[in-house]
Amino acid sequence: MPQLPSEMIPVAAPSITPREGELAQQAALTAWGPDHYAFNRQFEEMFAQYVGVSHAVSLPHATSALHLALAAAGVGPGDEVIVPDVTWIASVAPVNYVGAEPVFVDILPDTWCIDPEAVRAAITPRARAIIGVDLYGSMCDWPALRAIADAHNLVLIEDAAEALGSTLNGYQAGTFGDLAVFSFHGSKTMVTGEGGMLVTDDEALLARVQQLRDHGRPPGDRFFRNTEVAFKYKMSAVQAALGIAQCERLGPMIAHKREIFSWYAAELKGLKGITLNAEPPNVQNSFWMNTIVLDPALGMDKYRVQAELRARNVDSRPFFSQLSTLDAYSDQPRLRRFLPETPSGTVPATYGVNLPSGYNMTPDLVAQVAVAVREVVNLAS
Ligand SMILES: *Cc1c(COP(=O)(O)O)cnc(C)c1O
Repeated sequence: MPQLPSEMIPVAAPSITPREGELAQQAALTAWGPDHYAFNRQFEEMFAQYVGVSHAVSLPHATSALHLALAAAGVGPGDEVIVPDVTWIASVAPVNYVGAEPVFVDILPDTWCIDPEAVRAAITPRARAIIGVDLYGSMCDWPALRAIADAHNLVLIEDAAEALGSTLNGYQAGTFGDLAVFSFHGSKTMVTGEGGMLVTDDEALLARVQQLRDHGRPPGDRFFRNTEVAFKYKMSAVQAALGIAQCERLGPMIAHKREIFSWYAAELKGLKGITLNAEPPNVQNSFWMNTIVLDPALGMDKYRVQAELRARNVDSRPFFSQLSTLDAYSDQPRLRRFLPETPSGTVPATYGVNLPSGYNMTPDLVAQVAVAVREVVNLAS
């Protein structure tokens, strides 16, 4: 019989091999001089090929990628950007960076992604863009969002920071927005320490991104004559080298993530009072974070569950909160005017917990976490 873990199981852990170290060392020793972006170029090509897009731009993080996406699309003061109420704040803060206003709308109860009907209802004459977030590896209803965006001439931005390797109707996460972004933060599915990628098939948007991320220098500028005040967002060669090593075995890594979920699903099968990540028939979820949402009737919120798990040597994370409830947005009540009184997002945001989901997970470790989860759920019932 599996027991509780004997030492703390971390909530996230990357997949790192000697290859990452070798390539990073090679970059540190050689990526200087005229061709100092060679590693970045290779990383971008490998990544674009994996996702199935024409262009990929390596960046310091997904936050800067979203900032550039909005700026390149011309979103600015006076504009509204429709965003899900439940996501990491990095999905939305860049809307504020460009001087536009986020408009929070509800998420769907099963996939935890933005509700297309709620998006439709929140469109005003000032709406300029929609940001859909593929939460925890789940996929938005992109065909519905695309139809709305096209009908109202809105820019569609895909925050795929948590969904590398997920697919919808056979297409990879990152292929659905006019622009899409990924994160390689140390906790994510693929890591470069800090890092991000912007992908697009649109040549004009790509040209804007390239100029805006290099202090407003026209492409190929050798005279240091900037045509506008812009940003400096680039990834270092050493980070790109880590990304190349990760891209080399991305397929097996995603397969491992999916396996971890299948172990959880088997171990937790039949446990009443919890719901796991959704995987509708047309989706392959890469399960960035294996997640349980407790039945509100159990009366245990996410922070209580986390404390109980921690006491049993299981590290976890709280499900993202409703942004509309955070102090960060408390002075802007207008932003929540399209949210229902009790949004669907309240349930996962209050009762959801991410379980250990790192590449260190084995069937044994998952079984140990499941022992802890059962104990904690049984405390309530
Ligand atoms: C991690 C994350 C980001 C931000 O990624 P960084 O690389 O840390 O900037 C953005 N959106 C979502 C949904 C994320 O999970």
